[in-house]
Amino acid sequence: MIIVLTEDAREAQVEGLKQNMETRGFMISDIKGQSKHMIGLAGDTSQIDIENLERYDFVEKVVKVSEPYKLSGRNFHPQDSIVGIDGKETIGGGKFAVAAGPCSVESEQQILSVARDVKRSGAAMLRGGAFKPRSSPYSFQGLGLDGLELLKIAREKTGLPIVTEIMSVEYLDVFARDVDVIQVGARNMQNFTLLKEVGQTGKPVLLKRGLSSTIEELLMAADYILVGGKSDVILCERGIRTFETATRNTLDVSAVPVLKKKSHLPVMVDPSHGTGYWHLVYPMALASVAAGCDGLIIEVHNQPETALCDGQQSITPVFFEKLMSSIAKVREAIA
Ligand code: PEP
Ligand code: MN
Repeated sequence: MIIVLTEDAREAQVEGLKQNMETRGFMISDIKGQSKHMIGLAGDTSQIDIENLERYDFVEKVVKVSEPYKLSGRNFHPQDSIVGIDGKETIGGGKFAVAAGPCSVESEQQILSVARDVKRSGAAMLRGGAFKPRSSPYSFQGLGLDGLELLKIAREKTGLPIVTEIMSVEYLDVFARDVDVIQVGARNMQNFTLLKEVGQTGKPVLLKRGLSSTIEELLMAADYILVGGKSDVILCERGIRTFETATRNTLDVSAVPVLKKKSHLPVMVDPSHGTGYWHLVYPMALASVAAGCDGLIIEVHNQPETALCDGQQSITPVFFEKLMSSIAKVREAIA
């Protein structure tokens, strides 16, 4: 952190500030230019309140040089993290994985049929919501614990690890026991209590970017999970709110290389929620792969027209198969 002093800063004021910072454990270095006097601070500057410092009339401005997130950043961990799922290295560091399945688990027949189809096409994980964060309280809210039981049956029959969203700490023990990857949805990205608790489960967490969250906020949310030292995190770009109405959200494909540069964590992309339309899933999935993502999460439904949730953005198993073969070609092209 650099403190830029005003030109009329008095020696006594500057010395007082330096002493104060030294007693707080920071290393101080004076930087004197032709007209500017600056103080460089090294140490854990995240505890410094910048606005407070800028209230001194002899401080012109304070410039942050390090990032506010730590554990998810590359400074802390330069090499790519590989996340293990169900004891197998699955995603990150060159390993690519696709999670696919319906928005919501609806019945045993539905989840089994989709699970078998996506497995055959090469999916590494089965997604399916049991607890659904619906915008309207009148929409289908998911099958809850019964949905989780159906996911477990699908896992048993196909061997696919299951990814499903947790909405509250109430079911933390059940998720820690039964789920392979715990999803924290966009609407809960800044539910800090939930983040800290899922970070204690030891299960990998798929953390989706909030609807109006910056990349920096996503990485700080990841730190909340990582600080427990037990769970790994997979980041997920799922589209952000913009003024555009032609799509449900604006898929921020540039977030992929930005996140890959700033963070060691694997990055997935969700082109289903990111666009809101099934026909946009194919081009945006391929664009995300070309941008360097480590995996995708795709909504697949055996009968999208009758889906209880997000049918308009779900692709059929046949189309998913085509998408998987195109993904392989794009991966080969950029290798
Ligand atoms: C989901 O993946 O089912 C979901 C609700 O996604 P998001 O949290 O990104 O809206
Ligand atoms: Mn959905």
